[in-house]
Amino acid sequence: MDFFTSVVEFFNSAVFKLIVNLIYLFAFILYLSLAKWTYSDAKRRGAMAFYWTIVALLFPVAGWLIYLIIRPPEYLDDVQERELEIRAKEAMLANSSMACPSCYKPIERDFLICPYCRRRLKKVCPSCSRPINTDWAICPYCQQII
Ligand SMILES: [Zn+2]
Ligand SMILES: [Zn+2]
Repeated sequence: MDFFTSVVEFFNSAVFKLIVNLIYLFAFILYLSLAKWTYSDAKRRGAMAFYWTIVALLFPVAGWLIYLIIRPPEYLDDVQERELEIRAKEAMLANSSMACPSCYKPIERDFLICPYCRRRLKKVCPSCSRPINTDWAICPYCQQII
């Protein structure tokens, strides 16, 4: 028995057929996994999950690669979360229309001093004790000249 016949025998053997079948099985599992992954990823990103799954099934690996390139960059949850954050910030700005001129943190209209950076915001009228702007020459509440 020379080398050549032993090689031919190996390729005809049951072990070799088993290895080939296992490779096929592995490729098939990989193919299904990629399709399933494409479906769940597309769903999370708000892409057309159903169509992308078909693309991944029709073009094994290539369809999945194309999806990887042109899929939406963000998860849908992240987009919604960011929108909620922006809305919350807008509401905060609308509620307290005033911000500290020094540190831009929200302050209330009658604050005398910024509680964040201690910047003097208003002074107290010596006559009626109401908060008035530091550059006013007269108190608009009691007409006291400052
Ligand atoms: Zn401040
Ligand atoms: Zn006053």
